[in-house]
Amino acid sequence: MVVHMPSEIGYNKRWHDVKSNLCHIDSYIHCSLCLKDSGDDPYTQKLEVGWTKWGIQVWCREHNANIMHVDFEGAKHPGDESRQQRDEELV
Ligand SMILES: [Zn+2]
Repeated sequence: MVVHMPSEIGYNKRWHDVKSNLCHIDSYIHCSLCLKDSGDDPYTQKLEVGWTKWGIQVWCREHNANIMHVDFEGAKHPGDESRQQRDEELV
């Protein structure tokens, strides 16, 4: 697995300068076993993401395997739990 640090992906905007509840994913996280099993079939991930006592973990439900577990080392980071309103909510 490759983890891209903000400086490697051209990070040049501050958190508060962007609409952080839009999709800003530059590189997706995959389960290598799912990729191996998918062959020529369309690939659908079965990943779960959740908080742990150390930070945040990505888990493959299909393979019951850890994909990534980030340890925040006790640090607190800003997070945006808002979402964009859907068109039907704007009427
Ligand atoms: Zn998997």
